[in-house]
Amino acid sequence: MRHFAVVGSGPAGFYTAEALEKAFGDKARIDILDRYPVPYGLIRFGVAPDHQSLKAVSKRYDKVAESAGVDFIGNVAVGRDVSVDELLGMYDAVILAVGSPHSRKLGIPGQDLPGVIGSAEFVGWYNGHPEFADLDPPLSGTHAAVVGNGNVALDVARILSKTRQEFEGSDIVGHALDALDHSAIRTVTILGRRGPHQIAMTPKELGELGHLEAASPVVDIADFPPLEADDALEPGQRKSITILREFAATPPEPAKPKRMVFDFFAKPVAIEGDGGAEKIVVERTELDESGAARGTGETYEVPASLVVTSIGYASAPIEGVPYDERGGKFLNENGKIGERLYAVGWARRGPSGTIGTNRPDGYEVAEQIAAAMPPGGAGDRPGAQALKRLLVSRGVMPTDYDDWRKIEETEAARARPGSPREKFVRHEEWLHTIGR
Ligand SMILES: Cc1cc2nc3c(=O)[nH]c(=O)nc-3n(C[C@H](O)[C@H](O)[C@H](O)COP(=O)(O)OP(=O)(O)OC[C@H]3O[C@@H](n4cnc5c(N)ncnc54)[C@H](O)[C@@H]3O)c2cc1C
Repeated sequence: MRHFAVVGSGPAGFYTAEALEKAFGDKARIDILDRYPVPYGLIRFGVAPDHQSLKAVSKRYDKVAESAGVDFIGNVAVGRDVSVDELLGMYDAVILAVGSPHSRKLGIPGQDLPGVIGSAEFVGWYNGHPEFADLDPPLSGTHAAVVGNGNVALDVARILSKTRQEFEGSDIVGHALDALDHSAIRTVTILGRRGPHQIAMTPKELGELGHLEAASPVVDIADFPPLEADDALEPGQRKSITILREFAATPPEPAKPKRMVFDFFAKPVAIEGDGGAEKIVVERTELDESGAARGTGETYEVPASLVVTSIGYASAPIEGVPYDERGGKFLNENGKIGERLYAVGWARRGPSGTIGTNRPDGYEVAEQIAAAMPPGGAGDRPGAQALKRLLVSRGVMPTDYDDWRKIEETEAARARPGSPREKFVRHEEWLHTIGR
């Protein structure tokens, strides 16, 4: 019997477990470890709560977790509760699927002022991430800014602009719903260093901004290159630009009090305020020959008492595992980090791509493992038995998949009208639910 440890229960971890199970059948036991008692990584803590159809992908992962050869072992942080070297002693292969949990910083003066918040933290706050339950973002000012031109920036701008009614059917946590309901924010400025052609926003997410109950998108047509230039774009990107052009051609609706303002060619150079963010100093940019943003020296100010930075994510290094600081991921070659040690998903590639992008990663690494240790061969490592013994001796209480189901059922039972699940937002609440 082979024993494999997949560290991380987000999409990459589950696709890898699925692929290993297909490759090895009943000749392998696969343990999916996670530092939280609840699985799914960014599906639970990242993907927006008003995008329930995307979150439904977890049903596929449920099937994997429920299959005979796979176990979920939660409440175990690798690097803190057990080292990678120890896992390699107990398992035939260890696959790191730990994602990229940290927000990248802007690297400008004022970035640590109160009111400046990374998107990992802000998104975690409205999704019930236990580490950000007490974030308490300032929502009493009228202006907010989101720095970045990707889909996460759109998520943040949309969540800040929706009405309470528009969250019906979502699983936004109660504390965020109440805070947003009382928010005074009327203008959200979305700052991008380059122009409309360089956005990393997909048509569906952009299109949603055109249909909000109380907010209108505002785009300046002067930021666009001539219409013919759109012909050279790849079809998906062209669709996004067409939506932006439509926004530019449509005046904001007077009956809608909120604005989502796209400010292109805008590079933050400082955040200023007395005891908290009040404004961003922005330098106007232009594109150089290589398509990069070049400062023009002209600056102006954008008022914002809440600044959410959405300029990318980085993995957390784990002791003993070679790490690529610049790429924010583990050093690896096609997923292989070292002898019997692999990386998949964002931990392998860095923080980009959709949920589905992680699937081929998992399958490729499973193929590599199957080539290195052909299915059917006998492994001589003890797997979960030894791991659980070690964890209990260290006072760590691992949780299993049945515990998670119990947590989920309890959350469902706490549901309020219009909210399918009232999530627990504290680690202790999860553990208390399962009697730990
Ligand atoms: C805000 C946001 C919104 C997104 N929205 C969408 C969307 O709408 N549609 C879409 O297709 N994609 C979306 N994505 C992208 C998608 O979420 C990612 O592609 C995907 O989650 C990456 O999968 P992963 O398994 O590599 O990492 P994660 O999903 O981050 O999973 C990593 C897991 O590892 C665990 N872990 C971390 N460190 C340790 C440790 N030391 N020990 C044990 N466990 C550990 C974590 O708890 C987590 O469960 C979004 C991303 C973000 C950030």
